[in-house]
Amino acid sequence: MNYERIRKIVLDAIQDAVAQGLIHGTSGNIALRDDVDDVVAITPSGIPYTGMTLEDIAIVDLNGKWLEGNFKPSSETPMHTAVMRARKDVKATVHTHAMYATIMAMGENPVLRPITPPHCEFTPIGIVPFTMPGSDEVADKVVQTLGEKGRSVLIKNHGMFSCGKDMKAAMMAAVYTEEMAVTTYYAKLLGNYEPMSEEAEAAMKALIEADQAV
Ligand SMILES: [Zn+2]
Repeated sequence: MNYERIRKIVLDAIQDAVAQGLIHGTSGNIALRDDVDDVVAITPSGIPYTGMTLEDIAIVDLNGKWLEGNFKPSSETPMHTAVMRARKDVKATVHTHAMYATIMAMGENPVLRPITPPHCEFTPIGIVPFTMPGSDEVADKVVQTLGEKGRSVLIKNHGMFSCGKDMKAAMMAAVYTEEMAVTTYYAKLLGNYEPMSEEAEAAMKALIEADQAV
């Protein structure tokens, strides 16, 4: 079997995402770009993640063409490969319908603000307007909304999309985006919603960037 290393990382990540409640049923998909070859390991379409094997993880090229795997790649493959083509710094991508992020991806003003200092690594989090799932159009809009440095976006009436330099970083972006959505939701319900100030967010971002540069 080819690309065992990246297939294993994707399989472990999707099962971790299910265990954390970020993914329900067969919704959500995770991808990882190979360091050497321009191929991507991605979860298959419509197959339960429990009991999944390494051979079930699909291998596609950067244009999403199916190269290997027992099942066809995720229908959201265009979203993952479009981001990897546009962003050389992105090696891993996570798309989920995590409940609170999906709740926050509605309404008049869905932009998530940082509630605690670790959130600042992942803000600003933009909102992608609703477009048909699996389309090149939604893929283009995710790329546009992420921009050059974005780590996470909400997708209206659909879910969220996160990315990072490796799987750990992409999973952290997904976990913290959902945490931001959960804390925002409950704080707004209680009437005590008060996100970090823009000044505190900027100072925290500078600290995080300095730390990552070391
Ligand atoms: Zn989806």
